[in-house]
Amino acid sequence: MATYAQSKRDMSRLEDYLEAIYNLNEEKGFISASDISERLGVKSPTVSSMVAKLAREGYLERERYRGMKLTDRGIKVARSVIRRHETIFELLSMFGLSKDVAYEDTEGIEHHLHPVTVQKFERLVEFLKADPETSAKLKQSMDRD
Ligand code: MN
Repeated sequence: MATYAQSKRDMSRLEDYLEAIYNLNEEKGFISASDISERLGVKSPTVSSMVAKLAREGYLERERYRGMKLTDRGIKVARSVIRRHETIFELLSMFGLSKDVAYEDTEGIEHHLHPVTVQKFERLVEFLKADPETSAKLKQSMDRD
């Protein structure tokens, strides 16, 4: 039986693949296993078996000669993963963190937040964007050593 930690790990992996595949397709117009392997820093047999699993589960379709493409279901999940990534990244950036740190920590926590927490982050980002004065004050206060 899969433990909670295991299914959490599986979910994180699934999300990382869908995010990478979607972004690669946006950047290059096609998806290749070697690009996925490079982007995620995993070996190609690992990519092959994950791609097969994603296909079985209806997230992508493999096409003879053309590699693969995400299904509507895959696109939907990928977009929500990316939106969550952007929300967290935007919020961390508002704290005045460098892009590198904000990115690293976004990757570190994005799979581990409750959807309700992400929604609150989204509201906070909206709130701060609508109020540049408060946003500047916040940043200033965060910038102290
Ligand atoms: Mn991410």
